[in-house]
Amino acid sequence: MKRIVIAIDGYSSCGKSTMAKDLAKEVGYVYVDSGAMYRSVTYFCQQKGWIVDGVVNEAELAKVINDLKIEFRVNPETGKSDTYLNGENVEREIRSLAVSNQVSIVSAIKFVREAMVAQQQAFSKDKGVVMDGRDIGTVVFPDAELKVFVTASAEIRAKRRYDELKAKGQEESFDAILENVKQRDYLDENRAESPLRKADDAVVLDNSNLTIEEQKKWLLDLFNERAK
Ligand code: C5P
Repeated sequence: MKRIVIAIDGYSSCGKSTMAKDLAKEVGYVYVDSGAMYRSVTYFCQQKGWIVDGVVNEAELAKVINDLKIEFRVNPETGKSDTYLNGENVEREIRSLAVSNQVSIVSAIKFVREAMVAQQQAFSKDKGVVMDGRDIGTVVFPDAELKVFVTASAEIRAKRRYDELKAKGQEESFDAILENVKQRDYLDENRAESPLRKADDAVVLDNSNLTIEEQKKWLLDLFNERAK
């Protein structure tokens, strides 16, 4: 079997990361959550007070963007990969609704995208990588051997995000989450820089009515076909 690059793109909260993580574990590949990188930059800006009335202080952010160190380290207690920003575990903070509500304005900034894309491309030096996001198959790895574009209805996606936050003890209103999902879809699809769109050669998966197990098998079968 050859080692390949797998790009999984799609709308917010449609289970991309679950399927990407499962596949990476199953086949022994590296998993990279590119959304966590944009979330980390957003959290950093919020901590600095650099987002006021929905406007980012780009001049300040530009000075430090190339020094932000974003890493993924496996947490021995959960067996899952946590996101670290400049050496600090920010996994919980970056998943908050406060970060979700501002991440799409930060991720629309050209120099932020350039810095993140350069870091993301470095992860694929030895192939054998599964990355999920919005522009992985179109911009980060246009030559990826397997591209998947995932979608599901906004209501189903909001319900999944609601359950996920609740399980972590972060209860938010369902309506606020639904609004956030719709708002991010709109901003991600309509931004000037690398908007969310399906790559021409991506396989579409609508997982509205699939269980996690069914989706996992679907992806593994596709992987086995492409990596042959
Ligand atoms: O995947 P997740 O929902 O965590 O991503 C958070 C946000 O980061 C998205 O709504 C989008 O604005 C941005 N993003 C992006 N490009 C990527 C991954 C995420 O613009 N490759």
